[in-house]
Amino acid sequence: MSSRADRLTERVTEAGVDAVVITDLVNVRYLTGYTGSNGLALIGANTRVFVTDFRYVEQAAEQVEPSFDRRRASLDLLEAIKDALPAGELRLGFEEDHVSVREHGRLRDLLPDRIELVGVHGLVEELRAVKEPGEIAAIRAATELADAAFEQFIAGGLIGRTERELALELEFDMRRRGAEGPSFAPIVAAGPHGALPHASPRDVEVRRGELVVIDWGAQLDGYCSDCTRTVAAGEIDERGAEIYQLVLDAQLAGLEAVTPGAGGREVDAVAREIIEAAGHGEHFGHGLGHGVGLDVHEAPRLAQRSESVLKPGNVVTVEPGVYLPGELGVRIEDLVVLTGDGREILTGLTKELTRTG
Ligand code: ZN
Ligand code: ZN
Repeated sequence: MSSRADRLTERVTEAGVDAVVITDLVNVRYLTGYTGSNGLALIGANTRVFVTDFRYVEQAAEQVEPSFDRRRASLDLLEAIKDALPAGELRLGFEEDHVSVREHGRLRDLLPDRIELVGVHGLVEELRAVKEPGEIAAIRAATELADAAFEQFIAGGLIGRTERELALELEFDMRRRGAEGPSFAPIVAAGPHGALPHASPRDVEVRRGELVVIDWGAQLDGYCSDCTRTVAAGEIDERGAEIYQLVLDAQLAGLEAVTPGAGGREVDAVAREIIEAAGHGEHFGHGLGHGVGLDVHEAPRLAQRSESVLKPGNVVTVEPGVYLPGELGVRIEDLVVLTGDGREILTGLTKELTRTG
């Protein structure tokens, strides 16, 4: 099997550039194996260079794939690019989604006129969207860890404890089980607060009768998991139970639609139509799902304006929600890997409405 850098080289040629400078650290990690906080890679048909500063020379020697020529530079790594490039006229790609205007100006100043800078978009991200077996195993392990932490957490009860306390406990439990950290700050949002899809936990206690949206994930070996469950703190009213069932129906239909060849827009529509038919279209304001990997939000997207087409090896979330302002929110999210002919759900937690103390 060809290395990731080999596969990128093919794409560099297709993009009409001779080489590309990779500065996004997650992309650098994906291509070279390096996990430090200052490094870049230059990749082209005849170029494979990794650059870091003196603090990371030893780490790079251990981690960076041997096909890279490893170089040490000053703290300002951009200065080293000039010396690493082949002679002659050259079209050099840079990651336009990650390079700041200031860095671009600096590159322009540092490089001789023979080098033309060309913005490229999504080259590494599209490779990252299709996971290798080892990556799927890492995401599966992160998911299992997050599932186990949640089961213990939920058994401890929610009523009378603050959202902030609960979020902290869930995060702590994931770390105690070996996670490098949460893949994002956990969300615990009770009652009307659950109507904010990205709510920050408050110093407010969960009360009996509220629905509580909990969205969390673990990071393990660099790979993320992502999951949401909405649970009932004690008995909830009929309205809450009805919305829960609606979101669950949409989620199950969305999962069923996740299959190789399906468009991200199409899959989103399958779940969205169910919510719209129940009169809640305006209460589902976000996309159905997103890719997960080294980043918790990456390609492909399941959304109304998505151009993605799903492929085996994609790992995506399916997470419809209904948010009634001032009243309640429900979201249910599973993590799914696309197989040759369908999907496997990685999340192992029940989706029957769970009632806690
Ligand atoms: Zn989530
Ligand atoms: Zn998500």
